[in-house]
Amino acid sequence: MSMNSPALRSFLDVPPDADFPIQNLPYGVFSPRAGEPARVGVAIGDHVLDLSVLEAAGLLVCPGREAPAVFAQPALNVFMAAGPAAWRAVRARLIELLSADTPTLRDDAALRSRALVPRAQVQMHLPCVIGDYTDFYAGIHHAMNVGRIFRGPDAALMPNYRWIPIGYHGRSSSIVVSGTEVRRPCGQYKLPDEPAPRFGATRELDIELELGVLVGVGNTLGEPIAVERAAEHIFGLVLLNDWSARDIQQWEYQPLGPFLGKNFATTISPWVVTLDALEPFRCSLPTQEPPPLEYLKGPGLCGYDIALEVELTPAGDKPGAVIARTSARELYWSLAQLVAHHTVNGCNLRPGDLLGTGTISGAAPGSYGSLLELAQRGKTPVALPDGSQRTFLRDGDVVTLRGWSQGADYRVSFGECRGRVLPARGGS
Ligand code: MN
Repeated sequence: MSMNSPALRSFLDVPPDADFPIQNLPYGVFSPRAGEPARVGVAIGDHVLDLSVLEAAGLLVCPGREAPAVFAQPALNVFMAAGPAAWRAVRARLIELLSADTPTLRDDAALRSRALVPRAQVQMHLPCVIGDYTDFYAGIHHAMNVGRIFRGPDAALMPNYRWIPIGYHGRSSSIVVSGTEVRRPCGQYKLPDEPAPRFGATRELDIELELGVLVGVGNTLGEPIAVERAAEHIFGLVLLNDWSARDIQQWEYQPLGPFLGKNFATTISPWVVTLDALEPFRCSLPTQEPPPLEYLKGPGLCGYDIALEVELTPAGDKPGAVIARTSARELYWSLAQLVAHHTVNGCNLRPGDLLGTGTISGAAPGSYGSLLELAQRGKTPVALPDGSQRTFLRDGDVVTLRGWSQGADYRVSFGECRGRVLPARGGS
């Protein structure tokens, strides 16, 4: 049976609308209880399967990395560096061990109780050590919307956009795992009718709905990754919220690009969904016109059909609302093109590096991946069920990103990427 067959069933009961069926098996780093040593696991139904237990019991081996332990580690980097053949072999073994027909784990109550941890009790960590973080701008509707707001309709899309995947180097030290609170930053911003900038808490705290690409095998400095081999260098994907202070960003971004308006926090979801699990959800890319240059062209370039949504919940557990729904299909550039472009000058990627896709927006209102676009920088506020309105985020707001690919009677889901806004230092 194929590793993506809808007919695969686990001995664990996983309902059709659950995030983590046997067809998904995303990797993460967790502590069975808060404070306990972190190790690698996969999510299955309401449980986490502890791969360090299987490894210690001799039931799971990462090919080519027999010792020391690959999964009794607080990060996925060693496994990520093992490469696509090893990833596929481990995935096949995990599907076998979790399948309804395999007695090894199913019929061994003692092993089950050590290896399967209720997901509700675990503490999730960042999935890997992220050495470098790059953020792209591959969402063409977002690029046009923001260009229109910041530069006017005539200069909405820069002339280079359809030729070159635009990106900048972000900051990895402030990447945090879902659930971490995010403090409203202070900085310089200039109001349009004032002659000089002010210093203070941002008035325009925003989100960016993105996917994060986690690099598996890297490349040697000086040796580009060809576009047709680029997908083999991608370990998997996460949800990514690129928190942004628009007023700080607008004052600082020319000529060198984003800086303090972006690098105060980036939140990612803890479960890494593999490209192997997403294989059935490959889809065609939007038409690329003009045709890209040769090094960005290749057979088999694809998009991914991943539904995405943004929920905003005000402070005090008031009812929240989904304020945006879109799809990863809207990305102009493929993930492989981002990797090929990043390395075409010889720049080396390393296992655990993170590439943000850029904000993913659709063409229609309601499908925009940032408040800047949803509320048109204050012109069309977003209404919430409690009667309040948002142009940008308020203190106490909780933002939750969700993403999933829908199969016949199962879904390959990313779970959630969540963060709550804390007031600025000294109050805002
Ligand atoms: Mn971004």
